Amino acid sequence: MQFLSQTTPYSDETIESYLLRLSQDNGYFGFADMADILWDWLVTQDYELEGAFPNELQSVDVYKASQSSNFRVRALRLVAQLAGVEASELLNLCWLRSNTQFGAITAVSRGGLLVPRQLLRKSGIPVCTECLKQDAHIPYLWHLKAYKACHKHNQLLTRICGQCNAEIDYRASEAFLECECGAVIKPAAKANQADLKLANALATNVLASSAVAKLVGLLAWFSQWQSISYDDGEFSELFVRYFSNWPSGFESELNKTAELAKVKQLRPFNHTPFNDVFGSLLKDSKLACAGSQGYNTVQLAIIAFLTKLVAQNPKKKHPNLGDLLLSMLDAAVILGTSTEQVFRLYEESFLAAAQPPKKNTFLKPSDNVFYLRQVIELQQSFALNMPNNQQQFVPPW
Ligand SMILES: [Zn+2]
Ligand SMILES: [Zn+2]
Repeated sequence: MQFLSQTTPYSDETIESYLLRLSQDNGYFGFADMADILWDWLVTQDYELEGAFPNELQSVDVYKASQSSNFRVRALRLVAQLAGVEASELLNLCWLRSNTQFGAITAVSRGGLLVPRQLLRKSGIPVCTECLKQDAHIPYLWHLKAYKACHKHNQLLTRICGQCNAEIDYRASEAFLECECGAVIKPAAKANQADLKLANALATNVLASSAVAKLVGLLAWFSQWQSISYDDGEFSELFVRYFSNWPSGFESELNKTAELAKVKQLRPFNHTPFNDVFGSLLKDSKLACAGSQGYNTVQLAIIAFLTKLVAQNPKKKHPNLGDLLLSMLDAAVILGTSTEQVFRLYEESFLAAAQPPKKNTFLKPSDNVFYLRQVIELQQSFALNMPNNQQQFVPPW
């Protein structure tokens, strides 16, 4: 079997878009029609591939194949063979699962570009009508929730069908310029500056994937920290404004929180967990960059703030904000290291526990036992030899 018409993938195209074009170029009735035939053929080649190729475009991408992404990859290799293109050309169009995380959020990657999985649009893929008139394919950027305007045509992507008010989704309509209801998709309004700024940043940094990883990390952090969904109409504007005033705006936000804590104080600060005052500040900061390579932008700003806070609240008889209690998990964020390393610092008396664990019990990573002051002082004492990766305070032997 071989496809009669061979379709060349665009390098920025999505796998769904490519397969849809392949089915159209070869005169199939729709993607499902081609998928049925492919499914049968794949099983004759390799019985393990039974079910490895879905007949819905929505489920075709590799990261969506939960238990069987290796079979999906194998199936796509065979499809590439039929289509007369290199397997790598097709696989480069897919989002793959990654072991890397943005904090607690899993990442997916496409050609080395790493983004938090939640940044991918689920329902509805908006389109730029101008782009589609020039080149009929869907670029992967349109699948990113934070990409709301076309950076080439300065217009918003069309998200909603003017006829039936449903979200536009080429994977459902199986047509690029048509809604599922059959209506032709109309151009959207001119984009605002903030939407364009974000779109440009996502599009132009693609060559430097680390710059995009940093940007998408900040997007994930901002969305979580400010409790704003990417889909919020004002997301771009709020994001751009927040970071144009960085880090002074963030710092004054934290200062306000600290002042408020003094007013609302219930217990002495040397008995108050850090999280009671600052919430999930330290935990959330991990979202701002993938993996654990050194401090990210948000963490650097947090450490600068906490260093100042401790300096302004020197050790006194009466406990103050410098005496808040940190867990091993949070201390690890400040020290830029692992919880195992923090535990070793404790064992070797670099850090004292406010309350030593009771006999025959272990210190849990979430126990709030370390003084903020001590952790910050320790962080500062190692600041001079701060390499751009995880800190090793105690040699691992
Ligand atoms: Zn466009
Ligand atoms: Zn419609």
